[in-house]
Amino acid sequence: MFTELQKRIEAVCHRAGRDPAEITLVAVSKGHSAAEIEAAILRFGHRILGENRVQEWREKAKQLPNIDWHFIGNLQSNKVKHCTGFSLIHSLNSKRLATVMEEQGQKRNHCFRVMIEVNISGEASKHGLPPSDVAELLHYTQSLPHVEVCGLMTMAPYATNPESSRPIFRALRELRDKLQLKELSMGMSGDFEVAIEEGATYIRVGSALFNQGDKTPT
Ligand SMILES: *Cc1c(COP(=O)(O)O)cnc(C)c1O
Repeated sequence: MFTELQKRIEAVCHRAGRDPAEITLVAVSKGHSAAEIEAAILRFGHRILGENRVQEWREKAKQLPNIDWHFIGNLQSNKVKHCTGFSLIHSLNSKRLATVMEEQGQKRNHCFRVMIEVNISGEASKHGLPPSDVAELLHYTQSLPHVEVCGLMTMAPYATNPESSRPIFRALRELRDKLQLKELSMGMSGDFEVAIEEGATYIRVGSALFNQGDKTPT
């Protein structure tokens, strides 16, 4: 539930000595209808949503005006041209994709704001660059006037214990510091509290907002 989540964010900020204003909640609305999104998120006044499929997003964007949309999925090059409606794309993961963004950005007079997605854990199933390749991609984007890298994003491997995400988040923060970037997009329903403790500036939370089981506080 939305208010429950906000309380948890405030509590962990308080414990960690962080200002809640430093953390942007991207409410992940993938797989949910406009009506469900309205009931679970928008009626609380929250307007920042994340989607992971371009086609699904295009349908929803028609029904839901005045949203600050974020793209969090794996982006195919042929879909980049549709993505100027996202204020931030969390998943730049190749030079090729950056090149396509530059071409489309030039054509449409749009600067794509992005995070570089990093595969810290090295899991084969995860998208994202190995940490050792990030500096090179960042350097490449600095020659592209229509692509602005704001920070780094990662997904921790699925685990029942949120503490197992901590070394992943810490490694992402260290890489961000080394590259002198500003933002860190990390933490989902199962591990956003650890992510905030480790310095997240964007958290991407989906199921905790829609899960009916969360309605009764435990
Ligand atoms: C689905 C998704 C999330 C949200 O995950 P939950 O566990 O539902 O909070 C966050 N980030 C990405 C990239 C996702 O695909």
